[in-house]
Amino acid sequence: MGSFLQKTEKWLLKFRRFHQSVVMDSSRAFLIPMKRNTTALTLALAVCSLSFAASQQTNTDLEKMPANSTQALGQTFSERKAGVTRVLLAGSGSAHHFPRDFIKIDSEILTKAGHDVAGTLNGEEAVGLLPEADVIVFSGNDGGQWGTPKFQAALNTHADAGKGIVILHAAAWKWNWDGGNYNKRFVAGFSPSHGAGEFEVDINAPDHAIMQGVAENFKIRDESYRHEFMKDADATVLATNGKGADEHASVWTVNDPKARIVVITLGHDVNSHNNEQFKSILTNAVKWVSEGTGPTKK
Ligand SMILES: [Zn+2]
Repeated sequence: MGSFLQKTEKWLLKFRRFHQSVVMDSSRAFLIPMKRNTTALTLALAVCSLSFAASQQTNTDLEKMPANSTQALGQTFSERKAGVTRVLLAGSGSAHHFPRDFIKIDSEILTKAGHDVAGTLNGEEAVGLLPEADVIVFSGNDGGQWGTPKFQAALNTHADAGKGIVILHAAAWKWNWDGGNYNKRFVAGFSPSHGAGEFEVDINAPDHAIMQGVAENFKIRDESYRHEFMKDADATVLATNGKGADEHASVWTVNDPKARIVVITLGHDVNSHNNEQFKSILTNAVKWVSEGTGPTKK
């Protein structure tokens, strides 16, 4: 995200300088024939307004894009800086506004937390960016983009290298990607159904790093996934939604031998992505998965 904006800004700056030089030259009109000077000025102004429009387009377009767009966004990471975690937001598909909620809003949340964030709605683009990322926040439900052998292999390579993974909302559903290995390794199960509306979330592990600053009980307007853990799943539940027989995990770690993995089933739409408790959980989860390799229950 950052670098696309930077490129656009650099481009703008170049044209501003060009524009200024044309304006300066126009004050020395005797050096330039009037007609040529006016044409150059008009051209420079037109290009300036076009480039200004381009610089404005990044965030607003994510909101205006089709909710199920799988378009490549051209976002890249900035130059490596010590202590700055590179986070790739990857997701697209149906039933959600991926460009607005999972790319724009989450990018703003994680950039504010000090990370270098790039987002994509496109599986091929994600495969290209993932080797450069420290953490992936994956939310996609479009099998054509995310169920491909290429993306699944890239996700496994990322995990095998001990890099962090956050599985968000729709990506925690039941998929048959990678012959079922996706749900097994990254989700530790699946959700076959969900409720919707306002519900309560209870924090089971308030001392866990991912729950720091999160209220022990909070309300959220969202979808309440009814997650079922697979037999022999090695997972640590950190938060739940629902009560009694309808109590299901909302946030858990999957204790993979090589990578830190967190699953967050919350996040259906703008109501949750703008929820302060959701923001804290997402931010803490990204930090926690970036800080170590292999299983840990702390
Ligand atoms: Zn949803």
